[in-house]
Amino acid sequence: MNEIAIVGAGLAGLTAALRLSQAGYRVRVFERYPRPGGLARALEVGGEPIEAFYHHIFTTDTDYIAFAEELGLGDEIEWLPSKMGIWADGRLWEFGTPASLLRFGPMGIIDKLRFGLSTLWLQRQHDPRPFESVTAADWIRRHQGERTWRSVWGPLLYQKFADDAERVAMVWLWRKISLRGGSRSKSGMGERLGYMRGSFIRLVETLVAKIEAAGGSFHLTEEVRRLDAVDGGFSVVTRRGSHAADRVLVAAPVPDHLAVAGHLLADGERDALGRLRATGAICTILELEHSLTPFYWLNIADSEMPFGGLIEHTNYIPSERYGGRILLYISNYLLTDHPLFKASKSKVLEEYLPHLQRINPSFEASWIRASHHFRADYAQPVVSTGYREQIPPMRTSVPGLYLCTMAQIFPEDRGQNYAIAYGQKVSELMLEDLERGEEVRALRDES
Ligand SMILES: Cc1cc2nc3c(=O)[nH]c(=O)nc-3n(C[C@H](O)[C@H](O)[C@H](O)COP(=O)(O)OP(=O)(O)OC[C@H]3O[C@@H](n4cnc5c(N)ncnc54)[C@H](O)[C@@H]3O)c2cc1C
Repeated sequence: MNEIAIVGAGLAGLTAALRLSQAGYRVRVFERYPRPGGLARALEVGGEPIEAFYHHIFTTDTDYIAFAEELGLGDEIEWLPSKMGIWADGRLWEFGTPASLLRFGPMGIIDKLRFGLSTLWLQRQHDPRPFESVTAADWIRRHQGERTWRSVWGPLLYQKFADDAERVAMVWLWRKISLRGGSRSKSGMGERLGYMRGSFIRLVETLVAKIEAAGGSFHLTEEVRRLDAVDGGFSVVTRRGSHAADRVLVAAPVPDHLAVAGHLLADGERDALGRLRATGAICTILELEHSLTPFYWLNIADSEMPFGGLIEHTNYIPSERYGGRILLYISNYLLTDHPLFKASKSKVLEEYLPHLQRINPSFEASWIRASHHFRADYAQPVVSTGYREQIPPMRTSVPGLYLCTMAQIFPEDRGQNYAIAYGQKVSELMLEDLERGEEVRALRDES
């Protein structure tokens, strides 16, 4: 029987593991962390699990919703209203509804008209290609004006792409806008976002149980150090030893793929992967005594603030679920050589706290009951112009070695929905190849 090794127990790796083990193959999943889930992993606060990095889904995340239904978790997704704001010009503004746009001070009336009309036009476009060769910065400046770039889109892109913001292709922003348009309520009163009762980790846990029930196994806290090509298959090398596998799927970020399999790849493929860029992220969770702002999602349009967004989870999910604690995520996407990226939690908090006080002058450090700090080296691929030609293939140049990674997601932005969709897609390719391989073997045996 063919044995398949999967590197990475994030949602993409787990989805592929389920499909391959359901098809009767023996699957082993290797994960460097003690727990599965990857970027969707969780911690416990007040006895309730919560994501290390804030998470919600949109009504347009149909692959996630269908998968949750298949796993018996469809009814556990709650669709709740969310309130969005922007910190700009030294104050808080509500944002995200037509009425709030009219009140938004940093843009003049002409800016608002251009913004409203061209956003509506973007929502109605279906062909990505015209947006692939122009940067979002150029497109927005030309069609919506410099002020709108500086007060709305620029901060959003800097929030996610740090110093790479001006390289990002318009296709990335267009897809975000068109999908968000589809997920907003027709009433214009803002949108409902989806959250899983008990956190998204429940889907991960259900997947793990189903994979085990189908015969798959997990090697947690077992980082793959290297893959070697041996006798038409692979040797998967970890600190605990090596495991033979006929096929390997790397379901991990591009730098991890290069670290374990780079030496096996064709030169051109390795160089192309090495040119792909991504930002890292640090995310600090504060358990607070009091609420900081009335918003769930607050974008920061202020270059003096050291973070890009504040996500007050308990303005979306009731704080009673977390023993009455107010939960605030402080989001910061950074290039990994930024001094704050590797800084300790206390250093990061020292930087952040005076700015929280600017946003809410009553805020004091004594509000903080506990804090948690997480870092992801690879959090957001940078989709630059001409990206379609740079997307790494799922079938690598090495027969039997496959890649499923966030950098393949296009033109949509990365997210749980696409980790599931692309995990299914790679498993289908692998099954196709396995079935073809078995047919060839059967023909050889017959002759
Ligand atoms: C700050 C932040 C906010 C987000 N918010 C949302 C949101 O609101 N909604 C949403 O849907 N999505 C959100 N996402 C994105 C979502 O979490 C990811 O798109 C998805 O979880 C990616 O899954 P994945 O399996 O592709 O990759 P990952 O989750 O990165 O999984 C890869 C796994 O591979 C493991 N690995 C790597 N190398 C090795 C090795 N050599 N050996 C063993 N294991 C290895 C890693 O430890 C990891 O567990 C957010 C992400 C971030 C960073």
